[in-house]
Amino acid sequence: MKKLWLAFLLTAAAAQAQFTIVFDYTYDTEEFFTGTNLGRQTYLEAVGTYVSNLLSPTALNAITPSGGNTWSATFFNPGDGTSDSVSNPTYAANVYTIYAGGRVLGGSTLGVGGAGGFSASGSGTWFDDIRYRGNGTFNTGWGGSLSFDTATNWYFDDDINTTESFAGQFDFFSVALHEIVHALGFGTTTSWTSLVNAGTFTGAYASAVAGENPTLASGNGHWAIGTMSTIVGTETAQETAMDPDIAANQRKYLTELDLAGLQDIGYTAVPEPATLALLAGAGALGLAVRRRRRVRA
Ligand SMILES: [Zn+2]
Repeated sequence: MKKLWLAFLLTAAAAQAQFTIVFDYTYDTEEFFTGTNLGRQTYLEAVGTYVSNLLSPTALNAITPSGGNTWSATFFNPGDGTSDSVSNPTYAANVYTIYAGGRVLGGSTLGVGGAGGFSASGSGTWFDDIRYRGNGTFNTGWGGSLSFDTATNWYFDDDINTTESFAGQFDFFSVALHEIVHALGFGTTTSWTSLVNAGTFTGAYASAVAGENPTLASGNGHWAIGTMSTIVGTETAQETAMDPDIAANQRKYLTELDLAGLQDIGYTAVPEPATLALLAGAGALGLAVRRRRRVRA
C-alpha cells in the first residue's frame, strides 16, 4: 500500500511539471561551466530545478517566428558582459532559456543576472507573443542570462537539502538562486518596475506576506538589506534570498517573500505541501555573519 501511495504522489507531481528552466552555455567563453569545469553544470541545473519546482504550474506559450514575424532575443553576454543577441530563435512552450557563464566581475560582485529583451518586426500580436507568452500582461519573455565571478572561491554543494560549514567560501547554490530569480524578471522587467513606488514594492502578494509594502534597496531591484522572511514551506526564519548581499559561509533558500515577489510579476506558486516535501531538512542558518561581498543584478 505504501508503494502505491508514493507512486500516486509522484504522478501528481509530474502532472504539474510545466515550467522548465533550460541553461545554455554557448556564451561561456571563460569556461566557468565548460572545459575542466563541465561538472558545474549539474550544480546550476539543480538550482534551476529547485526554482522551477516551486513555480511549475506557470505555463508559457512557445515563441515561433514565421513569415513576416521575425525577431531577435537580446541579453547580456555572460562571458564578456557586452550586449548580444540571437537572430530569430524558436523557444519551446514552458521553457525559459537562460544563457549562463562566468567572467571576472570585479569589486565585490559575486554574480549578475537579468531578464532578456527583444527587438522584432511583424504584427502586434506577434510582439505580445514574445513579451507575454500568453501569461496575461506579465513580461515573462523568452528568458535571460546570468554570470558568476570566476575569481571567487565557490562552495559547490552535492546535497542542497543539508547545510554544512564552508568557511571562507561563497555558496554557489545561494548566488545561483539569486541570479536565476533576477533572470526570471525579479527586479529586472517592467512587470516589476511598474510595482515600485517611492522605494517600496506594491505587489499584492509581497505586501500580504510582509504585512506592508516591502522596502526596497537602493536601485529598487532587491528587498532592503537584511529583510527577513521564512523559508518557503517552513516556519524557519531566514534573510531573504533577494536582498542585495550574502556573506561567506551563508546559505539562503527561497523565502515566502521572494516567492511572493515572483507571484507579483506573473509566476504561479505550487501548493504548499509540495514545497514542504522539497525543503524538508532545511534547518536554521547562521545569519549573524558579517556580509563581505555583495550580489547584485
Ligand atoms: Zn541581485
